[in-house]
Parts: sequence; structure tokens; C-alpha cells
Amino acid sequence: MLEIRPNCENCNTSLPPNSEDAMICNFECTFCKKCVEDILQNVCPNCSGGFQKRPVRPKKYLEKYPPSEKIIYKPVNTNTFKLMLKKFKNIKPSNR
Ligand SMILES: [Zn+2]
Ligand SMILES: [Zn+2]
Repeated sequence: MLEIRPNCENCNTSLPPNSEDAMICNFECTFCKKCVEDILQNVCPNCSGGFQKRPVRPKKYLEKYPPSEKIIYKPVNTNTFKLMLKKFKNIKPSNR
């Protein structure tokens, strides 16, 4: 089951369970769409995987299956990330 994390790891913008802007990697590292497109260029800074839109959990399940409340806020280190980006951004996620 998805954790549905509450915020973007990079800019800390809030990403509620019904957000249309939440993106996740295969380990569920969670970022907003704007960070994924403008900064990360579809390379997860933690695992180098690509991103997909996080599915919305319908309201009726939120009580039984509550979203995570744990804030993970680790803005990308631009120097280290630059190298990672260079290595992976031109390789399709399915070939990384
Ligand atoms: Zn963000
Ligand atoms: Zn990741």
C-alpha cells in the first residue's frame, strides 16, 4: 500500500492525498510535479529512478488507510545532483 507522503522532499510544498501534482519513484520518494520537471528532470535524487504520478486514494478509504504524516524534507544538493543528472537524464528510466 502506498504511504501517501504529505509533502515534496525538495521544496516542502504540501501534497495531500488528492493532489494532482504528487509524483513518486519506485521507492515512493515523493516530489511535486514542478520539482520533478524543472529540477529533477525525471531523475530521483535518492535512487536515480524515474517518476510517475501518484494515484489519488479515494476519500472513503482515508480513514481506514490514512496517509503518512511524516514530513521528509531533504532539499536536493545541487552540486552532487548535477553529476547524477548528467549520468542519468538521457537514459530512459526503464534502462537505468
Ligand atoms: Zn517540490
Ligand atoms: Zn527514489
